[in-house]
Amino acid sequence: MSDLLDLNAVEVRNALDEKAISAVELATAYLGAAEATSNLNNYVELTADHALAMAAVSDKRIAEGTAGLLEGLPIGVKDLFCTKEVSSTACSKILKGFKPPYESTVTSNLWAAGGVMLGKLNCDEFAMGSANETSAYGPAINPWRGKDDVDLVPGGSSGGSASAVAARSALMATGTDTGGSIRQPAAFCGVVGLKPTYGRCSRWGIVAFASSLDQAGPFTRTVADNALMMTAMASHDAKDSTSTQIPLQDLTRAIGDGVKGMKIGVPREYVMDGMDGEVVKLWEQGQVWLRDAGAELVDVSLPHTKYALPAYYIIAPAEASSNLARYDGVRFGMRVDADTLDGMYEATRADGFGEEVQRRIMIGTYVLSAGYYDAYYLKAQKVRRLIKDDFDTVFQSVDALLTPATPTAAFPVGRKIDDPVTNYLNDVFTVPANLAGLPGISVPGGLTSDGLPLGLQVVGRPFDEAAISRVAAVLEDAAGF
Ligand code: GLN
Repeated sequence: MSDLLDLNAVEVRNALDEKAISAVELATAYLGAAEATSNLNNYVELTADHALAMAAVSDKRIAEGTAGLLEGLPIGVKDLFCTKEVSSTACSKILKGFKPPYESTVTSNLWAAGGVMLGKLNCDEFAMGSANETSAYGPAINPWRGKDDVDLVPGGSSGGSASAVAARSALMATGTDTGGSIRQPAAFCGVVGLKPTYGRCSRWGIVAFASSLDQAGPFTRTVADNALMMTAMASHDAKDSTSTQIPLQDLTRAIGDGVKGMKIGVPREYVMDGMDGEVVKLWEQGQVWLRDAGAELVDVSLPHTKYALPAYYIIAPAEASSNLARYDGVRFGMRVDADTLDGMYEATRADGFGEEVQRRIMIGTYVLSAGYYDAYYLKAQKVRRLIKDDFDTVFQSVDALLTPATPTAAFPVGRKIDDPVTNYLNDVFTVPANLAGLPGISVPGGLTSDGLPLGLQVVGRPFDEAAISRVAAVLEDAAGF
């Protein structure tokens, strides 16, 4: 059984096609693993009936020779994705009991490719957080423990996804990334996480946080598995007006191309206060690995980097406050009754939204209000453009950028929960790619002296997921994680 769980997705696909294992056997093993590790609280719901029924269909398709790209592969779904008739709450109390009558485009694509749904995964409430501690279901836990043997956060917001893939209770998982929520938890849990270019995956059926920043992407154990899952997730979708028509490159082939002759930029502004020394060391090691593999490393400048987080924490809450206006006690989820309509709205929203979500709504409403719109929101949008211009300039001379994924390794549960600003700093390396709409991948690079994983991030040109996957594959190989 444990051998079965050790196989990565590419290996599982081969084993299924060779009929060495069956999809039902595999789904059963993963459901068992999820139950055995329920202390990690990374699943908020296991959908065993769905998993076994879907796996039986996969076995039939494999027998008939009509297997899809992900046929029989057990996948966990972040609770931010709407799954038909299956509870989808964005890990918020306000959506308790909400069972959408439709399926998100991304998950539809996964099931069409033969993927098997294991269940819904824990995340920060409405994807707001970096530690999976704002979830209405309580924190998800990182399977890595480090020297002190205390519970560590898996990162966030897609903490359940990263935790489950690392704990081998999901072979793959979906995530979403608005400011780092795929790449940061991937780094904290020692797995591979890709945020594709904005527009690459349809946002239809994904609970909206900040619509101009949100992107879905895959969590996997290896870069090759990531290429496979990304291929199935991406599609043009008429139901999302920001979804692209530009076809995805052949990632599964590109990852074998190496980095010989590629130019990789190292942005000097990413050396920051508060960065762990071991993170800096790994970053330097990553540069050596790429140089040894034939890439040319180039020192580059992204001068507006220091404004990325402040701009993000205006733009993201502004969009969130608008998106979350729909949770009014009438249309979705829970309601707290009151004597007047306004009273019902207020009571529902006060009880249904957690503290961090309320904080974002207040910031967002403030920066969009008549007196402050120009001073904050409009200014932040202008800064966003400058950040994008910085990237456009460097991508005239380099093919990709290498940076750390996070400033530190995973930290203990509860340590930063009362300190929102310190928590916001977790995303200092990941937020710029969201503001500029660029693809970024986090790949495990090594362990700290405490035995905790650290990630390297590769950021690429718009719609060039192939370049960053190539670089990630070389880093993965060199790191031998
Ligand atoms: N940690 C960031 C935030 O709290 C990013 C979250 C995300 O990417 N969804 O907003």
